[in-house]
Amino acid sequence: MTSCIFCDILFGIAPASFIQRDDLCAAFMDIRPVNPGHVLVVPHAHAALVSELDAVSIGHMLQVAQRVDVALRASGIKCEGVNLIISDGAVAGQEVPHVHLHVIPRFRGDGHHFRFSPAYFTKTPASELGKNAESLAEWNVAIGMKPDDANFYINMGSVLQKLGKTDESQEAFKKAATLNPASAGMGFYNRAAILTGPGRVPAGARSRRPGGSCPTTSAASPPTAWWAR
Ligand code: 5GP
Ligand code: ZN
Repeated sequence: MTSCIFCDILFGIAPASFIQRDDLCAAFMDIRPVNPGHVLVVPHAHAALVSELDAVSIGHMLQVAQRVDVALRASGIKCEGVNLIISDGAVAGQEVPHVHLHVIPRFRGDGHHFRFSPAYFTKTPASELGKNAESLAEWNVAIGMKPDDANFYINMGSVLQKLGKTDESQEAFKKAATLNPASAGMGFYNRAAILTGPGRVPAGARSRRPGGSCPTTSAASPPTAWWAR
């Protein structure tokens, strides 16, 4: 047993009703479906948050979800529309801290609704939207997730290790260390070090951000490698 129910399912330690699995992701039925046919698409790499997952796994998750979406509509399961949802962080409703994409069939009268606070119904002034866009655009460039960075290879290393491909996984970790020496010996993941490593976040970017430190670089202790728990 690990401390993560989804890792246990992916390892085969805990049971689940699988639809498919490949090298990067698995899709299985949610144990407490919002509607019948509710599927979870789950990457093999253990990352609690979207920001901690490699770009290839996140992209692949959506591709798998697209196939599930098409299957749901063709399957005879009641499905007039689909919600694709990721709850990213406990405050956003995330209960299982291993990234997963919900694929939920919806139909008229199913009784489920999003509820918004009254503030939602007031339009935000363009000046405020512009200010937020500017701040986000700056950080978007600064962070610049690329599938060829150290983060990518560290997560691939974790997937390969999980699949029992020890040699290949060591190769991936070595490649990560070459791309960013700060990641050497970290095993699974240390986004904080990677983002602050050479050439990552431009020095000025942090000081330009109103309100202090970058949320992605302030993690005090990175998660332990899933195989080291
Ligand atoms: P979250 O709230 O984290 O976005 O969603 C977690 C989802 O995982 C919930 O919909 C919950 O029903 C599902 N879940 C929790 N534990 C298990 C389990 O052991 N097996 C399966 N198949 N789904 C689970
Ligand atoms: Zn996990």
